[in-house]
Amino acid sequence: MGPTRRPACRKPSRSGKRLAGFPLAPGSTIGIVGGGQLGRMLAMAAARLGFDVAVLTPHGDAPASRVAARTIFATHDDPAALAELAGLCDAVTFEFENVPAAALERLAALGAAVAPDAQALAVAQDRLEEKRFLGGAGIATVGYAPIEGPAELAAAFERLGAPLILKTRRGGYDGKGQAWAADPAQGREALAAIGGRGAMAESVCDFARELALIAARGRDGGIAFYPLTESRHEGGILRRTVAPAQASPELGAKAQAIARTLLLALDYVGVIGIEMFEAKGGALLVNEFAPRVHNTGHWTLDGCEVDQFEQHIRAIAGWPLGPTAALAQVEMTNLLGEEADDWRRLAAEPGARVWLYGKGEARALRKMGHVNRLRPL
Ligand code: ADP
Ligand code: MG
Repeated sequence: MGPTRRPACRKPSRSGKRLAGFPLAPGSTIGIVGGGQLGRMLAMAAARLGFDVAVLTPHGDAPASRVAARTIFATHDDPAALAELAGLCDAVTFEFENVPAAALERLAALGAAVAPDAQALAVAQDRLEEKRFLGGAGIATVGYAPIEGPAELAAAFERLGAPLILKTRRGGYDGKGQAWAADPAQGREALAAIGGRGAMAESVCDFARELALIAARGRDGGIAFYPLTESRHEGGILRRTVAPAQASPELGAKAQAIARTLLLALDYVGVIGIEMFEAKGGALLVNEFAPRVHNTGHWTLDGCEVDQFEQHIRAIAGWPLGPTAALAQVEMTNLLGEEADDWRRLAAEPGARVWLYGKGEARALRKMGHVNRLRPL
């Protein structure tokens, strides 16, 4: 599984959707930057369609590299590794949101067909830019304000009300890099707790529930939506997804309209995960989006004909998008930390489908796997 080289591939032009050579034929190589569980499930889906996968990860025991044909062990921005990946692959994607956007730009400049593109990643990496982008596209969000330092807290409370959530602009995930504050004094502590700089404040949404929508856009501009799902978070971490969510056709249509607007605004190719708040009055606000396959789409592995991982591979390979209807009612539960040690019991549970990510160390709250529990629709 070393970084062996294949004869150089076709070097596509940089013109995005009009790249020659799509749809990719089976036997082509798909590159994945990042080696976590999302990359692992993408690699498994790609293999099923006859593709080879090359993973770029710095970690010797990465979940994705253990199921991929090739791995380049290097940091995500290593110039030689990026050149090798561009040379090996007919399309390149990423599974990890903290890949430097400049690495994707470099891959594209080397002729790699990168999707989603660096802009989608750059916007999603910065919570403030993300909110501004959403607003610019006419998509509703909670109120927010940039916070460069404690001096800006009083004005933020005045404008947005209390309490506020302070969030780091970059690097946060699973509720990390966030702190609530009831007043400017608490705000100063909260800001210090999350690092003190490069932050933003958000109004707290008194939501009725949290929803998520997984959507996809192909290289030909075709769009597909999975059914709306309900997310249950605990301490900022997704615990459970209920799929499909109980939702009126109007609510579903509203969520799809938001997703369509976002996909077009980003000129997006691939699967996207969009997290939303359903406010008590019924309004839908976008919380954030992930330019990749998403935890709230793991139910599709057992609940849909074509799951989100295959859908993403189809999209970036220029294949037609597949059907997205739910075939079952699914409750997806994340297995965090030592919960995955329960695999014997879960494997024996009727109607339960267990997915384990092959991670060695079960640190507290680390996502080790998930279980999809199926019921007839
Ligand atoms: P992460 O990148 O960690 O997922 P999120 O912004 O999605 O960051 O926050 C994690 C969770 O925290 C959300 O799913 C939601 O439950 C809660 N949360 C975040 N922002 C807000 C907000 N403005 N109002 C209410 N709840 C929020
Ligand atoms: Mg989130």
